[in-house]
Amino acid sequence: MKDEEYLAVVRRHYPKANTTTASVHTLFNELQSKFGLAPHQILHADSICSDDVNSIEYPPSAYDMLGPFKLGGLDGYPFAGLTGMSAFAHHVPKDGAVVIFYAPHIGITGEGSIGQVNRIGQKQPSACCGAVSAALQKLQGNKINIGELTDLDYQQNTIEQILFKQKERITQAPVPIKEATEVMYEAIEERINF
Ligand SMILES: [Zn+2]
Repeated sequence: MKDEEYLAVVRRHYPKANTTTASVHTLFNELQSKFGLAPHQILHADSICSDDVNSIEYPPSAYDMLGPFKLGGLDGYPFAGLTGMSAFAHHVPKDGAVVIFYAPHIGITGEGSIGQVNRIGQKQPSACCGAVSAALQKLQGNKINIGELTDLDYQQNTIEQILFKQKERITQAPVPIKEATEVMYEAIEERINF
């Protein structure tokens, strides 16, 4: 499947979606025209899911910036916390700036099925984001306990608690996995802007 064909499938769910290459190009143009900043003056931090599918999605041009400093854990929630934020803030080049790219993620197959992705070398599509998908199943099965955070699965438990606070909104939405992803976006944004 060609990139443009796949982008058209993605835009059925997210009309403003763009490729990573086009997005980085737009970012560099904006930084240059509005602030006179070149890519090498930018410290790039990201808060995106640990999923390997995200690691292979950065276009080569993204590495013209410094970084990325990784703030995210499962589904992009900034688990690096205050210490992570203050660390990268100290790494910014003199006369430079920081760009923080934050987002949850959601897979869309070539056939347009949302919440799943076709992974390289696998015949069947698999859940994406797997963490949110698992938390959603637990939410729908009434298996999340208020305030339950364990040492062994702290990140996943945190996602469960975030979804639990918006249980009605998510479970009654036409596409619960899409709504759960919106909830995660809002939670990530709130924490980044803290
Ligand atoms: Zn994920």
